[in-house]
Amino acid sequence: MLSACSDNKTQKEPLAASEESNMVSAVTEVSARFSGNAGDQVLMEDYGYLEGERYVLYLEKGTTLPGDLKNQVEEIMRIDEQILGFSFSVTDYVKNHHWREVFLGDAFQGIQASEDKVQIMIARDQGDGAVEWSDTNEIMLFDRDFDPEYSTREVIFHELAHVLRLRQSPHLGQVLEEGIGCYAQYHGSILSETPCWSCLQYMSLETAESRFDDSVIIQDPEAAFRKYNVADRNAAQPEYQYGFRFVSFLMEEYGDDILQRLSATAAKYQYLETDNDKIIEIIKEATSEDVFERFAKWLPEGWKRISENIEDSLRKYGY
Ligand SMILES: [Zn+2]
Repeated sequence: MLSACSDNKTQKEPLAASEESNMVSAVTEVSARFSGNAGDQVLMEDYGYLEGERYVLYLEKGTTLPGDLKNQVEEIMRIDEQILGFSFSVTDYVKNHHWREVFLGDAFQGIQASEDKVQIMIARDQGDGAVEWSDTNEIMLFDRDFDPEYSTREVIFHELAHVLRLRQSPHLGQVLEEGIGCYAQYHGSILSETPCWSCLQYMSLETAESRFDDSVIIQDPEAAFRKYNVADRNAAQPEYQYGFRFVSFLMEEYGDDILQRLSATAAKYQYLETDNDKIIEIIKEATSEDVFERFAKWLPEGWKRISENIEDSLRKYGY
C-alpha cells in the first residue's frame, strides 16, 4: 500500500529499552561502503550514518540500500527546492526532537553529525502498517522507498517537501502543508521520471474522474477549507484532497513564487496551525480577496486537466 500522505509517527512501535542494552554505541560514518553506483546494494549489518552537506542519514541495522543513496537524497532535495522555490538553508525553524532515540534506540548516541542538517532515518518496513512520516526537521523513511521494485520513491519527495516548507515559517495548517507535500510528490515524480502511484487516490485512472466530491468545495470553498484544516485524520484524507487541488491552483493562478510569498507573510506570526482565521487572512493577503471564489471557478476544468496529466504520466509505467 502506498502511504505517502500519511505521516503518522505513532504507528511504528518504538524499540523496547531492553532490546537496546547490548547495542554497539560507537556507530560509524559509513560513506566508504556506498560506491555511488545505482546498481550496487549495501546491506547494513550494523547501524551506521552518512553525512552529506545538507542531511544526515541514520541507517537502521538490517536495511538494504542502493550504492548511490547519497546522490538520490541530494537529487530529491534539489528537485523539491526547484518545485517549491525554497532553499534548505538553515533557519530558526530548525528544531530536532531526536526521534531517532525513540525509533532506533540509543545506537547513534555520541555521534558528531550536525543538527542543522535534515535528519533522515531509514528503517526496515516491518509490515506492521507503519508509514513514513516527517516532523519539522526529522523524517522516517523505509529502505524500500529507494528500491525501484516498490516504486515508492515519491514518498521521499513528499516528506522532504514538508521539512523544506517548515523551515520557512510556522506550520500553515494541514490543508496547505499536505497540499504542498502532495504537489511536490507529484511534480517530483514527473521530474525524476519515476511513477507517482499514490496519485491514484485522487483520480480514477480508467475515467480520470475525481475520487472526491468536489461539489463540497465548489459550494463553499472557504468553509470546506476551514473544516478540513482541523479535521481529524481519517481514511478519506480530505485535507490532502483539498490541499493538492488548492496548491495546484495557487501555483497556476498566482505564479510559482506564491508559496514564498505565503511563507513570508506567515513568518510574521508565532503560531498558525489550527488558527483558521489567521491562515485565511494570510492566504488572502498573499493572493487576492476573492481567492476562494476563484478556486471554485478554476476547480472543474483545472483539476480535470491535472487528472489527465497524472493519467498520461502513469500510462508510461505500463498501468
Ligand atoms: Zn504529509
